Amino acid sequence: MRVEFLGGARTVTGSATLLEKGSLKWLVDCGMFQGGKEIEERNWKIQPYQAKDLSFILLTHAHIDHSGLIPKLVKEGFRGKVICTKATLDLCEVMLQDSGRIQEVEAEWQNRKGRRAGKGEAGPLYTAEDAEKSLRYFQPVSYNETVPLADGLKVRFQDAGHILGSAMIEIWVQEGGEEKKIVFSGDLGNSDQPIVRDPSIVEEGDVLWLESTYGNRLHKSKEETVQELLKIVQEAIAHRAKVVIPAFAVERTQDIIYTLGQSIRSGALPPIPVYIDSPLAISATEIFKKNSDCFDRETQEILSGGENPLDIPGIIYTRTTEESKAINEDSRPGVIVSASGMCDSGRIKHHLKHHLWREESHIVIIGYQAEGTVGRRIVDGAKTVRLFGEEIAVNAHIHTLGGFSAHADQKGLLDWVSHFRNPQLEIFVNHGEEKISVELNQLVSERFHFKTTVPQWREKRVLFTEAEKGMPEREVKEEPPTEEPLSVLLNRLDRTYKRLRRKLKREKKRGEDVDRPRWWRQLGEVHQKLEELEKEMD
Ligand SMILES: [Zn+2]
Ligand SMILES: [Zn+2]
Repeated sequence: MRVEFLGGARTVTGSATLLEKGSLKWLVDCGMFQGGKEIEERNWKIQPYQAKDLSFILLTHAHIDHSGLIPKLVKEGFRGKVICTKATLDLCEVMLQDSGRIQEVEAEWQNRKGRRAGKGEAGPLYTAEDAEKSLRYFQPVSYNETVPLADGLKVRFQDAGHILGSAMIEIWVQEGGEEKKIVFSGDLGNSDQPIVRDPSIVEEGDVLWLESTYGNRLHKSKEETVQELLKIVQEAIAHRAKVVIPAFAVERTQDIIYTLGQSIRSGALPPIPVYIDSPLAISATEIFKKNSDCFDRETQEILSGGENPLDIPGIIYTRTTEESKAINEDSRPGVIVSASGMCDSGRIKHHLKHHLWREESHIVIIGYQAEGTVGRRIVDGAKTVRLFGEEIAVNAHIHTLGGFSAHADQKGLLDWVSHFRNPQLEIFVNHGEEKISVELNQLVSERFHFKTTVPQWREKRVLFTEAEKGMPEREVKEEPPTEEPLSVLLNRLDRTYKRLRRKLKREKKRGEDVDRPRWWRQLGEVHQKLEELEKEMD
């Protein structure tokens, strides 16, 4: 069978993989690229398939970088099924429509700019209505249920412990009379996260897609993280200041509500106003309450004790813009939780504009900040950031609390991989910034001796060639590689060559013998290959 890496390859966003078995084509995830103009162009590019030719989309979870292009696909003629858990469907209902509204606003803004520049108009990627229409193709499945999808193809969703409803996906395919198993880790949760369960363990598999968001980092423990947050809030209370927390509307916001609620109930914190200023987060919190069967044991116990872990004494939900603006008039110390989590859009920008320049304010970063976002610049120590066309000084206390992450850290990822028993397992490391994926790839390969690679965007692979041998040869059309991977490859080749020269020079200086026959031979072979290629081009 064939696969093509369409997103989340050497980058975090845009997760999507095309799988092809005979005439059957389907996607695992269909995410939106986020993090700056250049990468977001990819959302508009023509895909290597016709939307109407896809039979289904297997969706790991509701985050927009995994689900965000589904409405676009439906708009283009996709009529198959989107298979996901029920909680994912519930979350997609609000998140995709919200995303549609953002697309509409974005298009309107671009068009206004375009009109002023005398250019033509372009429509949005999709509208809120397109998003709503796409929901009718969703088909929820339960965790641990084996679902037959076609002849010789079945799938199972297991809890990935990342956000409510998140799943890792196991796919069994019949190839050349043999059954093979493909596993997608999805976004793998951090163990001991509030509310959701720990990630499930998988032991069997022939091919694995492994996420690597935090493949180079170790998170602090949950206990330490909670203590750190409490200290920040207490300090803010002492100085009658505010704590601003940019948070993803789904999961991070509810984790903060849960943590602050526990602390206020136990008396570790006095009752203070906690503003949840994000209409999407408010809807998401309602969906959490409806899907309590996905909660971990600790949270279930609080529920059965008659308390709602998602209701804090003193919590104030603000839906309208007027309510949101009124937060700035409240002079009491308190906490403001608002989206978007990467500080790029939404109401959080207003709160940052109001608080970043104030020395007494605290900004607490709890989630992943992609390259190119405002959040990333704040974390990286920018002295000023641009918000609403104005330079705002960064004078507030900036804190980064990795322990609230919804992603496993390096240790978590390696522990999870360690359960796989098949020594022939082949791993594709994805969903990470390039250098982080490469680092994790190296580690996994050294530690477990599995065959591992970090695929390029738009790279194609044939899986299970051994099993395919007995099958009639299919003609493989040689398609031109896309421009980006070639230029990236050439750059890498240049860099490797320069490093090699430097190393040889260094060794020679140290008086080492660099005239080794094996090196001669290998360099000779590389040289010959390059010359052959050059001739082919003439
Ligand atoms: Zn995610
Ligand atoms: Zn993701």
